[in-house]
Amino acid sequence: MSAIDVIRARLDEAGVPTPVVPKQGKPDVVAFVDVNACVACGLCIPHCPAECIETLPAGAVAGRDPQPVQVRHAECVGCHLCVEICAHLTDANAVRTYDANLIEQVLSLEIPEETPAARTTPEPGDENWAEGGGFHHMGEGSCIEGLLSDDDRARLAAEHTGRGAA
Ligand code: SF4
Ligand code: SF4
Repeated sequence: MSAIDVIRARLDEAGVPTPVVPKQGKPDVVAFVDVNACVACGLCIPHCPAECIETLPAGAVAGRDPQPVQVRHAECVGCHLCVEICAHLTDANAVRTYDANLIEQVLSLEIPEETPAARTTPEPGDENWAEGGGFHHMGEGSCIEGLLSDDDRARLAAEHTGRGAA
């Protein structure tokens, strides 16, 4: 079993719904990346079932090249895969899920019931969510930590990228 299969299996065990794309309802939670913690490894991007994680445009976060990633929240289905990938395959642990209603309120955007036809480039959002912001790391991190067996941990360790702060 690959590391991503371990993560999927444990998310299933944790009761996290299997992602449905295009989405068929407003998710309870959506993911948000702490851009200051993200090391821009790109590992989460190809595993997002909604394909809604993107590298921010040049200059979005001052002094960063390559730029960190952020989620297009309106498209996120709240599947938690990116949270677990970042938490278990890097040391960045940069992604959290937050209540979708809170994201709507704080960022003044709508999390619709259906996948929007048009994509909008996400903002870094670090003034709200990164170090010094009011919501830093108050969201939900890994929800599979307590479900991992020794064999699971070995499989995750074997594919750990070594990227991110120790
Ligand atoms: S896995 Fe984590 S550190 Fe890597 S790009 Fe995604 S959010 Fe950033
Ligand atoms: S929780 Fe993460 S992986 Fe899942 S749809 Fe949202 S951004 Fe993509």
